[in-house]
Amino acid sequence: MNVTRQLPILDGHNDTLLRLASEERSFFVESEQGQLDLPRARRGGFAGGFFAICPAAPSSAEMREHLIITETGYEGRPFPAADPVSAQQQTMAVAARLFRLEAESRGQVKVVRTVDELEDCLQKGVLAIILHFEGAEAIDEQLDALEVFYQAGLRSLGMVWSRPNAFGHGVPFKFPHSPDTGPGLTPAGRELVRACNRLGILLDLAHINEQGFWDVAQLSEAPLVVTHAAAHALCSSTRNLTDSQLAAIKASEGIVGLNFEVANLRADANEEPDTPLAVMIQHIDHLVAHLGINGVGFGSDFDGGITVAHELTDVAGLPRLIVALREHGYDDASLRTLSHENWLRVLRMTWR
Ligand SMILES: [Zn+2]
Repeated sequence: MNVTRQLPILDGHNDTLLRLASEERSFFVESEQGQLDLPRARRGGFAGGFFAICPAAPSSAEMREHLIITETGYEGRPFPAADPVSAQQQTMAVAARLFRLEAESRGQVKVVRTVDELEDCLQKGVLAIILHFEGAEAIDEQLDALEVFYQAGLRSLGMVWSRPNAFGHGVPFKFPHSPDTGPGLTPAGRELVRACNRLGILLDLAHINEQGFWDVAQLSEAPLVVTHAAAHALCSSTRNLTDSQLAAIKASEGIVGLNFEVANLRADANEEPDTPLAVMIQHIDHLVAHLGINGVGFGSDFDGGITVAHELTDVAGLPRLIVALREHGYDDASLRTLSHENWLRVLRMTWR
């Protein structure tokens, strides 16, 4: 039996919704552009995942301009805070596009709001979309918009992207550097944590600085989740997690989704597509060593303007990662747990 063909993969992060808007390609037609669409998802065993809306996200060209190459790596100028009014308008536009896409899919795509719905999608081969905001700029400090977006289907929220906002401070992009780049949550950020706990919205700690991480770790009643990151011990970028952060995630029964961006995996942080899958596997081994096999998943960041290992290229390449993990010694049960069971477990513990 070909286990890779049967393994449904849940993925912690993609930016496809934003890409669809800017590239004007259809989600339903296989494209040479981007890294994720429905035909390629089906070929890759991608069963669903967190689809992000990141308002005021820079384009890849803007991102390249933003990064200053240094002797030892790179340093990004800090991004200024985004305007909350236009962030909310953009978020509304992208969310509307998602709901239209769901309607046009005639049952092939579903925005899921409960774990039962998600499991049903996995069984029936319906592509499951978890609505995620990457940065809470669209949420007002009174948290009225949080209630409304929750009713619309929001089930996962990253408090910050790599910029400050009313709730906390995201890490600037720097290598090599610790994730300890500034102050923690604001009072509004602490209220946001409590509200997400109450509503059962997953709080994503990707992009938050280390003090913000520890503030959430102390406050939140839910498992700690980082949807797309990697091990700081192996690639010392601000975006990656130190071993003490991993220990806190494990203690909370949380999860880390492995980011596929080679610049966030390689020890030299080079954006080099000719990077062997073995580099990804080293991170998975490290994460498993620190989090246990039940604390690790995938968090590709497909369509986030990232360079992935050429052996993967896009979502259709996922089976090659599964094969490589299997050859490395992960058995069927471990592969099931990494590919979808861990995400299901954490969502079950988090959503109400
Ligand atoms: Zn991100």
